[in-house]
Amino acid sequence: MSKRPVKQVDLSSEFSLINALIIKSGLTGIVIAGPRFKRKKLTSLDLLLLHKNQSHSKSHLLDEIDFTGLVSQPAVFQKIAEEGVFGGETDVITISGPQKLYYSVFPVMVFSTLRLIALVFDQEREIKEEDRYLISSSLKLISKQLELKDEADDLKIDKIRYTRLFESAPEAIAMLDKNNQILDVNPEFEQLFLYKKAAILGKKLDELIAPANLIPEAMQLTKINWEGGRVAVETQRMRHDGKLIDVSVLGVPFVQGNGHLCIYGIYRDITARKNSEKQELRRLAFIEFISRLSSDLINMDVREIDQTISSGLETVARVYSAERAYLMELSDAGDLIKITHEWTADPRFSHRERQPDIYLSDLPEYFRKLLAGQMLYFHRVDIGNEEDTKALGFFFDLLDIESMVNIPLCVDNRFSNFIAFDTFSRPVFWDDQALNSFKLTGQILVNALERKHRELAFQDALHKAEASDKLKSAFLAGISHEVRTPMNHILGFIEVMDDPYLGQSEKDEYLAIMKSSGNHLLRLIDDVIELALIDSGQVIVNNTPCDICRVLESLLVEFEGLKSELNRNSVKLILTIPGECRQMIIKTDEIRLRQILWNLLSNAIKFTPEGEVGFGLSLQGFNRIEFYVSDTGIGIDETDLPVIFERFRKVENRVSRKFGGAGLGLSISQGLASLFGNSIKVLSEMGTGSVFSFSVPYSLYSADSGKKLKINGFAHKFYWEERSILMVEDDPVNMKFLTVLLLNTGANLLYASNGKEALELLEENKVDLVLIDMKMPVMDGYEATREIKRKYPRLPVIAQTAYAIKSDEMECLAAGCDDYIAKPIDKNKLYSKIQELLFPLKS
Ligand code: ADP
Repeated sequence: MSKRPVKQVDLSSEFSLINALIIKSGLTGIVIAGPRFKRKKLTSLDLLLLHKNQSHSKSHLLDEIDFTGLVSQPAVFQKIAEEGVFGGETDVITISGPQKLYYSVFPVMVFSTLRLIALVFDQEREIKEEDRYLISSSLKLISKQLELKDEADDLKIDKIRYTRLFESAPEAIAMLDKNNQILDVNPEFEQLFLYKKAAILGKKLDELIAPANLIPEAMQLTKINWEGGRVAVETQRMRHDGKLIDVSVLGVPFVQGNGHLCIYGIYRDITARKNSEKQELRRLAFIEFISRLSSDLINMDVREIDQTISSGLETVARVYSAERAYLMELSDAGDLIKITHEWTADPRFSHRERQPDIYLSDLPEYFRKLLAGQMLYFHRVDIGNEEDTKALGFFFDLLDIESMVNIPLCVDNRFSNFIAFDTFSRPVFWDDQALNSFKLTGQILVNALERKHRELAFQDALHKAEASDKLKSAFLAGISHEVRTPMNHILGFIEVMDDPYLGQSEKDEYLAIMKSSGNHLLRLIDDVIELALIDSGQVIVNNTPCDICRVLESLLVEFEGLKSELNRNSVKLILTIPGECRQMIIKTDEIRLRQILWNLLSNAIKFTPEGEVGFGLSLQGFNRIEFYVSDTGIGIDETDLPVIFERFRKVENRVSRKFGGAGLGLSISQGLASLFGNSIKVLSEMGTGSVFSFSVPYSLYSADSGKKLKINGFAHKFYWEERSILMVEDDPVNMKFLTVLLLNTGANLLYASNGKEALELLEENKVDLVLIDMKMPVMDGYEATREIKRKYPRLPVIAQTAYAIKSDEMECLAAGCDDYIAKPIDKNKLYSKIQELLFPLKS
């Protein structure tokens, strides 16, 4: 028997029916055959049912017929077909095939999709009309049954095919029911949108993956599908993690096997393509922008350049998703980096507001590389991995840096500036195209800056040349006068030296005068040369380690010796060195520093007939040392103050100037002080005395770097492990900034977001210093400070306010604050203010 799928069809009820029929009509047997399934052409038949009437005496005859042989011979059925049997309902023919049939065979045909044939055997008589009808009906039933089965199989196969296709499709597919709810999604969908299928079945697709602003569009597309239309669009959808992706969407309505309509949403991730399109667009936009920018910068008035630079920084930063962009330059003294131009996406994260300059000594290795021309590009994750990036960690925390690129720029093959881009909210990875664009922008901007500097320098030089022309005449007039006076002395006395009546003692006296005049001339020439060297920029600061107290003490000894020479024995010399400055070794130009102090001291003694001359030093903030020379001498009239630094300008009615003094000492000193980045200031009152002061940069020299405390590789000079500082600040960004700064000192930190909280914290904690913001909700800094000072009068309070306005400062001090710092907070200033209050210096 054939093993066709038909066997799986349950034909038991049909079998019983046929059985009953055969018995009832006394037929010998019946064979039912049908075409092979799935064949379009009828070439052979499957034997579906073979039935023998067991009660019939002749039934054994059926056994002799090879039905399988019979039904597999198309010729037999071909004949049946040719004779039109298939066309009719029923018919009777006698067939003769390879078998000799002894029985009448009545094929009963059913014309339907499955053309079945029943061969009814009977030897003796014709089949009754009624039996034929019954057989025909049974065949129809069987046929129907098979047909149904066939359809069910088709469906099953379709379903398997569909499932395979669905599961393995390279596109993300979602199937929606009539409520737009998800019926099914394929693995690609799960992968693309990062959802687990089980978690999203039954959810509304549009609400799930369309970003809020695109939900109406998504719903419109779905609507078109329900109306029978197809949609194909490129849009954006959102993944489970919130990330937007570019997708192509194909929406098609589809009739399911059960006749229900559903929708297929087919999504393809086109992010990569869109990105490259965007990149190309960005490249074109950038090229257009940069060519416009460079031509603008070349042609514009130099006074407008700064504004254009800032907007140029903004455009480039936005194109490449940077959140801050800035230009920096090295200070004249070469010790710090200053931000000159900045753009930031959020002003709260402005570097310029938080840390406008950074000392090279804070990040020596980093700046060494930059100054050597190396581009530096870091992400937060890189920090601390390599030895020399550890110190950077502090600044990444302090300034909220996630990604940062810093590019050195050159003008005429000389380092001139840095351009830097960074982000504070998320890491961004810039490709070579972005980095090249940054560099190109930087180069164009510094070229413009260079043009500005040159033009301004040229204008300045022009003014100076005009002024110096006048100055030169005055200078020549001055110098000729100053040379003439001692020269006259010398020549005059040479004349009288020839006098034969001149006694030895007189000769000695005249020789002494000539010698003094000669020395005077020599000093004058030295001073003039010195001034010329300063003017022409040939005097440079040469920093070496210098024991500053030793220098001052040696000056004291020297001037104690010179006092009598200057006829100032009654003048008292007083040197004051504060405790914290003793044994301080700094890096500075000792020779130039000494020269300024020498000039000031010699003037002080010269113009102080009796009384005191004091000198000394003090720390000025964190990074400068101030020197002063004071006297209780004749003083300078207010109207004369502006001119004393001018060349050859001396105040009239001066005391006798035995001690050199062509009126160049202060000019030279002022020139030297400017090399230290500062000018000499003077306070004076006629008859009371004068105070001259100036400052030099303070960079602590330590041969033993182990003396410095290192946290995270960052060397710093303050360690307040044992101290508790209460920070009162309502702005979280600012609070974080302060936290990073102060954590670096090892201090124990307490936080309060308003004055009321601060007072509560003070009740329960031992606090050594309060750093308080003045503008806060609930209880502001003024009220809180008054209350703090009432309860804890000795607890130091430092106020911080937004603007450096004198009246603010007064108000803070009136409220009881011990000190005051204006925002933007300079970290070094803050450190030294806290240091001063935590450890008051006794001078
Ligand atoms: P010089 O001392 O050679 O005259 P300086 O340039 O040193 O020239 O000083 C210029 C002038 O400033 C002096 O001539 C003097 O009139 C005034 N001056 C400088 N130092 C003092 C001082 N300590 N007290 C009063 N006058 C001073």
